[in-house]
Amino acid sequence: MIDTHSHIFVEAFDDDRDEVLRRAAEAGVELLLCPAIDSASHEALIRTAAEHPGVCLPMMGVHPTAINDNPDWERELEIVEKHLADPPAGGFYAIGEVGLDLHWSRDFLAEQTEAFERQIELALQYDLPLAIHVRDAWPEMHAVLEKHAGRGLRGVMHAFSGNFEDYLRVRSAGDFVLGMGGSATYKKNRWRGLLPRIDMAHVVLETDCPWLTPEPFRGERNEPSYLTYIRDSAAEILRIPPAELDRLTTENARRIFGV
Ligand SMILES: [Zn+2]
Repeated sequence: MIDTHSHIFVEAFDDDRDEVLRRAAEAGVELLLCPAIDSASHEALIRTAAEHPGVCLPMMGVHPTAINDNPDWERELEIVEKHLADPPAGGFYAIGEVGLDLHWSRDFLAEQTEAFERQIELALQYDLPLAIHVRDAWPEMHAVLEKHAGRGLRGVMHAFSGNFEDYLRVRSAGDFVLGMGGSATYKKNRWRGLLPRIDMAHVVLETDCPWLTPEPFRGERNEPSYLTYIRDSAAEILRIPPAELDRLTTENARRIFGV
């Protein structure tokens, strides 16, 4: 399995990161794609990737909520550009996580959109996929992606929260796959209705650890080994063997991230 969205570098894992990664390997998680958040955590991200080469694969980018209330948000972009121009050994595997988040405030839509579009240009410049975060901003997200349709964009709509129409629209804008995480394990969740209608070439697994914890650990810290619960829930929804779900989603992740 590949955890396509894993914040394993954050403080929540500082006391037992090696142990957590050992459990992940034992559970069959071979690779972790690690999305950047902002300049305050880039160092931890790059250090964690260097300590676990070939296992923790770093992305680079600035998260949309790091733009809110930040008069220096353009400085964040400059730092991202610097890292991309001078990458660590092994390089970066995606631009992420980037996108639009209007959940906390709508006041920074213009700034978030500009930051997102500048990072779309970086994805094209470096020929990297995007890890895209969308929260309470689907119409705005479609407007941006459709503006850049046909330019060869690819990536993951992380923690996909849209409906079937949103799926069709992102597919028509680029080679975007849907990131399925802990919510797939909840009794009531959108994946039950959605997953059977979606082409299985367009789904990847993710934990978004330490957040978005799946059942039966909801409320606790999330970790990459819990990807098995997400895989099993998805396999149950589709009535296919978990090993088959694993094979399909791993293949998709390998294709999108080039790993
Ligand atoms: Zn994330």
